[in-house]
Amino acid sequence: MRLVGLLLPLVLLALVSAGTVKDTPKKRFDNYKVYQLIIKNKIQLAAINKLSELSEKFNIWKEYDERTKQIDIMVQPEELSHFHEILKLNNIHSELVVPNVQTLIDEEQQQVTPQDNVSFGWTKYYELEEIQAWLDEILATYPEVTKEFIVGQSYEGRTIRGITISHGTDKPGIFIESNIHAREWITSASATWFINQLLTSQDPDVRNLADSYDWHIVPVFNVDGFDYSHKKDRMWRKTRQPHSTNACIGADANRNFDSYWLQNGGSSDNPCSETFAGDVPNSEPEAKALVEYLTAHQDEFKVYLSFHSYGLWLLSPYGHTADPLEKPENADDLLEIGEAFTAAVKALPYATDYVHGPTGTTLYVASGTSVDWVFNELNKEVAFTLEFRDKTGGSYGFILPPVQIIPNCEELMAGMLALIGKTKDLGYL
Ligand SMILES: [Zn+2]
Repeated sequence: MRLVGLLLPLVLLALVSAGTVKDTPKKRFDNYKVYQLIIKNKIQLAAINKLSELSEKFNIWKEYDERTKQIDIMVQPEELSHFHEILKLNNIHSELVVPNVQTLIDEEQQQVTPQDNVSFGWTKYYELEEIQAWLDEILATYPEVTKEFIVGQSYEGRTIRGITISHGTDKPGIFIESNIHAREWITSASATWFINQLLTSQDPDVRNLADSYDWHIVPVFNVDGFDYSHKKDRMWRKTRQPHSTNACIGADANRNFDSYWLQNGGSSDNPCSETFAGDVPNSEPEAKALVEYLTAHQDEFKVYLSFHSYGLWLLSPYGHTADPLEKPENADDLLEIGEAFTAAVKALPYATDYVHGPTGTTLYVASGTSVDWVFNELNKEVAFTLEFRDKTGGSYGFILPPVQIIPNCEELMAGMLALIGKTKDLGYL
């Protein structure tokens, strides 16, 4: 009886939310504005963090960053006067960076060329079904060198798929996880482009990269969230598993791993926060599936990369601490690899500036991330988080215009060649 009493509300909650998802129209962001704030002290930070617990109204686009002291926050139009009162009261400097989020979303949807609808061409962002169909096509076209792998099932029952690209046996492996945060569409666009390059490029450096390593790539990890971000809410970040006692849905999958989980303020215990760590580690079926998959296949890879946006960062462990004295034994090697990546990207005609360093001291404390879990628990010595375009303080944030997909991908390839090259030089591969 007791069990039934506990289960029934859960089942009802699941039914209600499933109904809501189907019936609600796509969320609009008319007159939602994004501000960049300069935070000068802990009181100001606490005031903004308090607001951000209501993520529907005050949605953090970029968390507080130690280096630049900036926060990017999207504000619902109804809350604007309240927001400006809070800023005034706490003497927080703000700058408007996106006057109307819906305008960016509308522009993002515009077709660039008539070919966009007939071929997969990296001139627009594709929905989950289109990416899956493309993956099927790739697997069918290159059966000799590609193989599908299944990480597991999402909360809503979607399959989390990956592709292995291998031109031989027992090459050192590189694992790429992408789009763990749903709204970061540039990540799966870049991962699919990268897969295509490994299979089709005639550039000798790229051929060497493809032929020398076994690549394991998951282009869309957070499948439920990604689908939801296309169909219902462009700014969705988290998973889609309902909470047992709170109406807010989902957890931040990249705070849900069992490595310094929910420690040092690098995540939240509030289910309505964008960085909600979950009630327990691996509470999200997606995170649990990845942990089980990576544990079972840990001998197949030496390097782990996680694709994110935005801000132009290349971040190494640790994420769980901002103490510069607490660092991995090979911290100097990771800095050297980071230096190689940033210099290679900077040398391109775009001259884009990436910043590299440990997550906790360079950007912000983020605990329970996949990269830290792989580094600490699977003892993989080279693991990085890549934060792609837009630039920090840029006017697009997550809604990166499709014309920037290819430039971002070119930066990824230049950076990747340098990152893997340096990792090999240092004896890790
Ligand atoms: Zn992210």
